[in-house]
Amino acid sequence: MPNTPDMSADEFRKYGREIVEWIGTYLDDVRSYPVLPDHRPGTLREALPSAGPNQGEGMDAILADFSELVIPNVNHWNHPRFHGYFSVSASKPGILAEMLSAALNVNAMLWKSCPAATELEQVTLDWLRQWLDLPVTFTGVIYDTASISSMTAIAAAREKAFPEVRLDGGLRDAIVYTSAHSHSSIEKGAIALGIGQRNVRNIEVDENFRMRVDKLESAIAADRAAGKKPFFVCATVGTTSTSSVDPVPEIAAIAEREKLWLHIDAAYAGPTAMIPEMRPHFAACERADSFMLNPHKWLFTPIDISVLYTRHPDTLRRAFSLVPDYLQTDQDSEVVNYMDYGVQLGRRFRALKLWFVMRYFGREGIVAILREHLRLARLLESWVKDDSRFELAAPVPFSLVCFRLKHSNEATRRLMDAVNSTGKAFLSHTMLNGRYTIRLAIGNIQTTETDIAETWTLVRELAGEAQ
Ligand code: PLP
Repeated sequence: MPNTPDMSADEFRKYGREIVEWIGTYLDDVRSYPVLPDHRPGTLREALPSAGPNQGEGMDAILADFSELVIPNVNHWNHPRFHGYFSVSASKPGILAEMLSAALNVNAMLWKSCPAATELEQVTLDWLRQWLDLPVTFTGVIYDTASISSMTAIAAAREKAFPEVRLDGGLRDAIVYTSAHSHSSIEKGAIALGIGQRNVRNIEVDENFRMRVDKLESAIAADRAAGKKPFFVCATVGTTSTSSVDPVPEIAAIAEREKLWLHIDAAYAGPTAMIPEMRPHFAACERADSFMLNPHKWLFTPIDISVLYTRHPDTLRRAFSLVPDYLQTDQDSEVVNYMDYGVQLGRRFRALKLWFVMRYFGREGIVAILREHLRLARLLESWVKDDSRFELAAPVPFSLVCFRLKHSNEATRRLMDAVNSTGKAFLSHTMLNGRYTIRLAIGNIQTTETDIAETWTLVRELAGEAQ
């Protein structure tokens, strides 16, 4: 029987209640799931039919397959002992806002296409700017991911330095600087924009994985001498491998002197700018041309949402704005049309979930959760130092602890695999100067000291077998 034209209101309410009930239980009981299920490639594909149904199916059948086939193959990112990559969480107010956003299904491309979505984005990002202590001259725009935010920043920098490229194309010898420890999205952005991978300088880092300013200066000088055109530098506050912080004040001085666009990638660590004692990590960020953070990383907002602030919204607009007749509106001169600030036309109502999260927890609530994560990381750091079999592989400025078994890449890798295969915790790795390193990131809203203590006990127990 085909299910047309749409689900009845009664059926929607029935399954809506059931699903909200399921979500509530899932989030309460998430510790009972294996963080990482033991799956091999193809498990879910093989369990599902090779073609979609001709006739509509009942919700009971769909939900049964969700429970029995999909869930066993899900990695539980919302698990409080998911410590791999950067630990994230979709908080409950954020989840509820996502439901509302799907229900409204507005397209936030133009002010006119949904005034509330545009104006809530303006208000919410201004609130967040104030909480982050960024200057009033910074204007924010929401994108899906940090990768797109950074690519967009590079495009704005290109527009500022080489305005003729928008019309004529043919950009050559434009040089991007970033550290060898910055996220690969900077290089990817340069590839996508036709700058070319060979024109990205991955500047060497010091022993604490921070960009070496002397190497940056000499690279710029060498490029200028060779007739190249330096135009963009990215500094990272909270790098992906170790959460190191590049020396932003020195990099800002170089950027100002050399007339480079300074972009700050604070995708993960950005929210800690709200905490007074963490402000030193953000010194000179107010001198940047753009500053980016991901509320979907460490601000308890469901994936996906990234925020780019810039002091040059007009330049950003010039880089992208292209308005066909059918998208012109009577209000164009007095409103913001967010479609003008990026590649995509259609935009989800992402501001709603950030607004819910900010209102529900308030600045003090968010700061309290972040401070607890920072405390847990310092505690874990002290435990690592106390066990002579382990060594810390990098300083711990935020909530990421990098450690390894002394003297052995292979044993460290075996240890991480052994922990992950228990399903009790999930850790990920990085290579630091050829040394295999385990990363334990703390960022889930439900993570407690007991979670960290149990995970560390597990690591220590399995370390004996791995060595
Ligand atoms: N920048 C940093 C510092 C990151 O750690 C990451 C991802 O972990 C990114 C950028 C890319 O984030 P996204 O997945 O939102 O593109």
